[in-house]
Amino acid sequence: MNIKDLTTLVESRQEQIVSDMVAMSSIPAINPQNNGTGEYERCQWILGVLKEHHVSFEVIEVADDQVQEGQRLNIIAKIPGTENKAKTLWFIAHTDTVSPGDLKAWHTDPFKPEIKDGRIYGLGVEDNGQGIISILHTCLVMQEQGIRAKCNIGFIFAADEETGSDFGLKELIRRKVFSAEDEAIVPDAGSPDGTFIEIAEKSIAWMKFTVMGKQTHGSMPHLGINAGSVGAHLAVELEDTLKELYADHDELFDPPYSTFELTQKFSNVESPNIIPGEDVFVMDMRVLPKFKLAELADHINKTIARYEYREKVRIRYEFLQKVDAPVPTAQDALVVQNLKAALAERSIQAYCGGIGGGTCAAMLRAENIPAVVWSTINELAHQPNEYTEIKNIMQDTLVFLTTISKYC
Ligand SMILES: [Zn+2]
Repeated sequence: MNIKDLTTLVESRQEQIVSDMVAMSSIPAINPQNNGTGEYERCQWILGVLKEHHVSFEVIEVADDQVQEGQRLNIIAKIPGTENKAKTLWFIAHTDTVSPGDLKAWHTDPFKPEIKDGRIYGLGVEDNGQGIISILHTCLVMQEQGIRAKCNIGFIFAADEETGSDFGLKELIRRKVFSAEDEAIVPDAGSPDGTFIEIAEKSIAWMKFTVMGKQTHGSMPHLGINAGSVGAHLAVELEDTLKELYADHDELFDPPYSTFELTQKFSNVESPNIIPGEDVFVMDMRVLPKFKLAELADHINKTIARYEYREKVRIRYEFLQKVDAPVPTAQDALVVQNLKAALAERSIQAYCGGIGGGTCAAMLRAENIPAVVWSTINELAHQPNEYTEIKNIMQDTLVFLTTISKYC
């Protein structure tokens, strides 16, 4: 099918695409580790659509007692290839969302998607609702039109991306869903003009530090050890020294340097006149692939030892997330070339680069599967008043179908 026919076909679906986006985003799917109830209900909606259109699918259940249903669902729909059934080109999107954060910062109800000026506002509509709906409709068009590629075309609706994919893609990799010849497109990041193809990621570490001192009355500091004060000094020193030690630039990435940010801070005492005996904070680190996380941990260990000795506190830390960046996907990989060619047909001259990590693609790259992250988005993930542009969902769907046509 040529680009003109595909364009007409996708445009004729706009109303359905929009109503599906609204229907799906009305079903909460907050990750249980963000105090949500999980993706189960949203998966039921996706399964309903697949059934209605007679798309064959497989559900991979992963046991998890954090959710009421006792399991997290991953949905795989696959349209078999005509020649090479050992290879699959995958499209992967995630069904979970983060929590809405401060509700006062939202102008609309995050759980009641609203259409306004060509946009749909709501929690998770861009991250990763847009990806879910665009790959779902790519799948439906293939099914309805009988489009077949030479290789299999697979669609994965994955659980648990927001907190590390243990119940999602990681488990799918463990269960050997992927094979050596596969390639993948992950629409979970991108740029507003659709020119950015992500082929590399930084290493990512979320470190949670706990400083243990001794609680005492605010007027009697000599009887205790102020963990809050020590924690504050430690946090600032770690931030400053890490930024200085790992200050290199790599223009493949945006921003082109490693980042070290103090993020989550946990509550401590209940009263202004109590010196806290414990201080807990998290640092989010995104590190250029040239540095190994073990090297950073070594610096952190030495700093901590100095604080323990000098301040008479105990300090422990844990990694909430720790992924050393895999080797980037090659710029001349077939999936990169075909996606670029599909974009060129839409007059979009794309370029390859790297981001701060945390998408599904890194896990696939670690398995030597060429994987690109691409979509047309305004980068509103995890922000209040998150929205998706209707024209972007349309464009992504069309670009995916055009890319698939290169495999036909
Ligand atoms: Zn996402």
